[in-house]
Amino acid sequence: MPKALALSPHLDDAAFSCGGLLASLAGDGWHVVMATLFTGSVADPTGFALACQLDKGLSAEVDYMALRRAEDVRAAKELGIAPPRHLPFREAPHRGYGSAPELFSAPRADDGIAADLAPALAALIAAENPDLILAPQAIGGHVDHIQAVRALLSLDVRASILWWRDFPYTVREAAPREPLAELLFALPSRRMALDPEAQARKRAGCAAYASQIGFQFGSPAGLDARLAREEGIERFRLTGRLAAPIAGLDAA
Ligand SMILES: [Zn+2]
Repeated sequence: MPKALALSPHLDDAAFSCGGLLASLAGDGWHVVMATLFTGSVADPTGFALACQLDKGLSAEVDYMALRRAEDVRAAKELGIAPPRHLPFREAPHRGYGSAPELFSAPRADDGIAADLAPALAALIAAENPDLILAPQAIGGHVDHIQAVRALLSLDVRASILWWRDFPYTVREAAPREPLAELLFALPSRRMALDPEAQARKRAGCAAYASQIGFQFGSPAGLDARLAREEGIERFRLTGRLAAPIAGLDAA
């Protein structure tokens, strides 16, 4: 059975950006695991980190990350994939990034998280031994996405990698920032046309991240409208050669 490992920076990115591919692979008999890197709980958050949960309508007493990890478990079920893995790294608001603009600026010089992520990713990849890795292109420029890519690129990886386009940044602006474009643009493009089953599973998987839907999309209907703008297509860049053909995935 071929194996795929999706490396999601946050609890929602993989489902939002390549949930249709993950559901399709699982439907075709692949073993598919989503691993999210920044899922560590931080007790008694303050300042911008606290604001990031208050603006989702969650009081200071709520363990925000535990709630989101539980959403991720439900999302994986909706996608029809294996139970998810959760790495304990802290999101950017807990690493000195103090405002929304800072989350989308260049990584801070004192943010050494990529060096911490790299050995954890290496251990995860060795344990899962995937034939295929899914990872972000960091479109939109969120520092956690950039650091995840830096960590992955620092490793000697045997598996092929499909780099996803980060939704919803892909449809939020006409020309979203692509800070890693020069690393990725020379790679061949791939285009995944989702069948109705995969689209339905993706929609249900995305909706499982209930704490994020209002903030990101206004409402579940807003999620549907944004997903509709992708027109049932997921786009990727490919590193390496695919170990097994993937139905629906073609040269762009
Ligand atoms: Zn993210």
